[in-house]
Amino acid sequence: MARETLFTKIAAREIPADILYEDDRCLAVRDIAPQAPTHLLVVPKEPIESIDALEDGDPALAGHLLLVCKRVAAEQGLTGGYRVVINCGDDGGQSVDHLHLHVLGGRPMTWPPG
Ligand code: AMP
Repeated sequence: MARETLFTKIAAREIPADILYEDDRCLAVRDIAPQAPTHLLVVPKEPIESIDALEDGDPALAGHLLLVCKRVAAEQGLTGGYRVVINCGDDGGQSVDHLHLHVLGGRPMTWPPG
């Protein structure tokens, strides 16, 4: 049986979430603790642990996730720009062991990140 994670449970509607987009490979949900006026998570349905766990055979999925980030950013009206972030591992600040892309927008972002 496939590994269960917070995001597989959200995809299965076992945990409530604001799902803004869904297709056969991924979904986009509103982050429960937003760090910007718009903060979405784009998540593959397959419970890939992190960007480090992406296989060389996954470029189509990786590209699809990026294009969905662009799509949901446009749907949310982020015409002034936005930031896409992938946290990986302890040093990267990853807290959920299921690959996800943060889409942050609605305010100017600073650099470097914390
Ligand atoms: P990361 O720290 O990069 O692993 O990001 C995990 C993200 O998941 C954080 O921004 C959390 O706020 C978010 N999160 C945790 N629980 C939920 C939930 N039930 N619904 C939506 N987002 C969540």
